[in-house]
Amino acid sequence: MTGQHKAWCPGSAVTPSRAGDERGDGQYENQILPSGSPDILVKQYQRQERFMSEVRALRLLGAHGLSPLARESCAEHLAVRIERVAGKPLAGPLVLGSPSEERFAGRLGGLVRRLHAVPSPGGVGPLSRPVADSWQDFLLPHLDRRIEALPLPTHYSDGLRTWIVERANNLTRHVPTPRLLHHDLKPANILVRPGGSVMLCDFDQARGGDPFSDLGKLWWRTFDARPGKAWTAFQQANGTDARANADDTIRFYLVVHCIGALAYWHDFAHPGYFRHARSAAHLLARHTGVHCPLATRQPERSSR
Ligand SMILES: [Zn+2]
Repeated sequence: MTGQHKAWCPGSAVTPSRAGDERGDGQYENQILPSGSPDILVKQYQRQERFMSEVRALRLLGAHGLSPLARESCAEHLAVRIERVAGKPLAGPLVLGSPSEERFAGRLGGLVRRLHAVPSPGGVGPLSRPVADSWQDFLLPHLDRRIEALPLPTHYSDGLRTWIVERANNLTRHVPTPRLLHHDLKPANILVRPGGSVMLCDFDQARGGDPFSDLGKLWWRTFDARPGKAWTAFQQANGTDARANADDTIRFYLVVHCIGALAYWHDFAHPGYFRHARSAAHLLARHTGVHCPLATRQPERSSR
């Protein structure tokens, strides 16, 4: 396989003892390496599925200006050479309601609308291994496994499954063709470019599915799950304000992402993720009545 190795490729990654050590939220899956050029960055992944999702999504989206362009990739070493885009990640959620936030939220709504116009290649689920199932048949077993990973008493886990199934049966019928989802729409993955335009980055969790799933995550992490002028501007530009049951559907996916975040917290317990886990537990309780403990089964690594 050495024939695939490119001059720009860093070669075999130095694998930390455990992915995520000493890295902040959002950087635990990959590292950015020096490229020798100010216009290019080289990203190297720990896991093949994250690498494949990123490369496939950037190839589909970069040409439309929705993401940076992927120049080349090395499948053997899970490395990709990406155009470096001028811009900075959003500093935090859009909760001030200022006119500038409203304008930015409108631009973001238009961008996400264009993203969700792109059909997913191959079906639903991660781009590295899409499946031909219906979205519902993919989502429900996936959520089952996530709920299983939570330290919940049986009456809570059963209640949460019932809450999910009742709504999934109603809400996921409107997914005729799976669309390309970012799946991790949080401020760190939203680039504000000089002049105020917007671009998305870090597509390593990209998948096919229901666009409303992205809106659930976005509402939580980028709009603090609160109604407000910025959120309204986003929805108008996104076109979701006109959709029947849009608020219920977004709330459903908010809960889906909170379950995912809590399962992630209990799997890895990265100290930097605690505030998101706490927020997820708070929102889960508010919307479903289920209280998920945050105390982890194993001591946090930072205390060893
Ligand atoms: Zn290589």
